Amino acid sequence: MAKKKLWKKQNRVVSVGFCRYCQNELINTDSFVSFYPSGHAHYLCMQKDDDLKQQVLQSVEHQLHQEKENYAKR
Ligand SMILES: [Zn+2]
Repeated sequence: MAKKKLWKKQNRVVSVGFCRYCQNELINTDSFVSFYPSGHAHYLCMQKDDDLKQQVLQSVEHQLHQEKENYAKR
């Protein structure tokens, strides 16, 4: 049986900090993002948040558009 190569140097796990969205610990092997001037988050958590923002924005724009149309009809 062939020996498995161990990539010890690449496998070093270092704690980066805590995710600002899910509050879980971030390690350097996760895909994460850093914020300026401080703070970190999982890439996926940030994406979820972006989706949420996008949804809110769209519903607000939709509402504004409808209000304008109602105003024009009067
Ligand atoms: Zn997270």
